[in-house]
Amino acid sequence: MSNSPSENPTVDEAPILHVDLDAFFASVEVLDDPTLKGKPVAVGGGGDRGVIASASYEARRYGVRSAMPSVIAKRRCPNLIILPGRFDRYEAYSRQFHDIVRDLTPDYEPLGLDEVFANLRSLRRLNVRPLSAAAELRRRINDELGLLCGVGLGRNKLFAKLASKESKPTVVDGRLVGGAGVVWVSPTLERQWLAELPVRALWGVGPATAAKLQKLGLHYVRDLAKVDEVTLAGHVGAAMASTLVAYAHGEDKREVTVDRVLKSVGHDQTFAKSLVGIDAIVEAAKGHAAVVARALRSQHRVARTITIAVRFDDLTSVSRSQTLSFGVDDEYAILAIAEALLQSIDIHNSVRLLAVHASSFLERDDNNVQMTFGLDPSSSNAREQAEAISRERQVSNEALRDAVDEVRAKFGKSSVGVAAELGERGVEIATQRGSNAFGPESHQHGE
Ligand SMILES: [Mg+2]
Repeated sequence: MSNSPSENPTVDEAPILHVDLDAFFASVEVLDDPTLKGKPVAVGGGGDRGVIASASYEARRYGVRSAMPSVIAKRRCPNLIILPGRFDRYEAYSRQFHDIVRDLTPDYEPLGLDEVFANLRSLRRLNVRPLSAAAELRRRINDELGLLCGVGLGRNKLFAKLASKESKPTVVDGRLVGGAGVVWVSPTLERQWLAELPVRALWGVGPATAAKLQKLGLHYVRDLAKVDEVTLAGHVGAAMASTLVAYAHGEDKREVTVDRVLKSVGHDQTFAKSLVGIDAIVEAAKGHAAVVARALRSQHRVARTITIAVRFDDLTSVSRSQTLSFGVDDEYAILAIAEALLQSIDIHNSVRLLAVHASSFLERDDNNVQMTFGLDPSSSNAREQAEAISRERQVSNEALRDAVDEVRAKFGKSSVGVAAELGERGVEIATQRGSNAFGPESHQHGE
């Protein structure tokens, strides 16, 4: 599905670049301990309820995948070496990775530690060609960091991200097949790409949402292009429905946003009496989520990134964030993501400060609000009512469950556990109380 190498798009034809490091956590472990080279290595929770966060290609040859329970991974690959994560090391590599991207353009947006979107439009005057820029980026990342990566180019974030996925090596019948390294989705190929993709390939469609879509007879992205958005919203929530229908038509309004941390809505609270234990912290986060949701709604915005930060009594602090494929503005969704992030932290001390922030904004799509139930929109009361209904349906339980699963997979946490109910809407999120996290050194930085 790639283009012939003779095609050489301009910046206007391929303005968005997505670069994704290969098997990032596992690759850093191998770089730091060369005796691991060539062995099946994974990073994640090693216990009975652990989940794989990252697997080397040697491990993938045995069918080991990220987000897979460690028990199953071990069954598929008995020699698998599962290491606990060392987020300080991953962050150090990530900073160098960002420095290399910054040399190409300052107009870039990190997504987690190992992915970056870049907007190449400002390079138009320099006569930069996206395919050459992408090849050079790969070369520097390999030469200077010893890491491999895939680069995707496209008209928008949707195609750039799909293309970087396509550029990667794959495992076919236990054999590793090299990828193209750089893939560009040209405008003439866009339609064909979308038609052939399973819904699961779309960002934010996890197992729960995919199962729901399949039940509706929606297997491929082309099926989504024919569906009525309002009907779909009744099944997957307005936020997810509008995202999916837009993707199915090749549309993606998300811009590459720089300095997203500065543009956030958040609530920070220092407690008079420090909080002890995860339950007390999650309880406090409810109030934070409500404040953030209210602020977002008053600004008519939805946010795609939720960040939490915790400061302990020993003055160390931890922050974690998750970017969603859809925007949220309701407190239940914000709390569900915040809770999953909090659960991934090792709470080794009492907590004196908790912060919950939302960023990566989109305008709230007021078309969703028009999805009324025979109400008169000119009546302010009816509009309020419609807004309440619509708001309630911004995110479906399935979409939330997939997002929470993604947080867990990312940090290698357990997938099984206690079911907790979030609020009266009854969003069921399985939470985890295990001890097989990344350990005390994970992603912490003193001040
Ligand atoms: Mg990656």
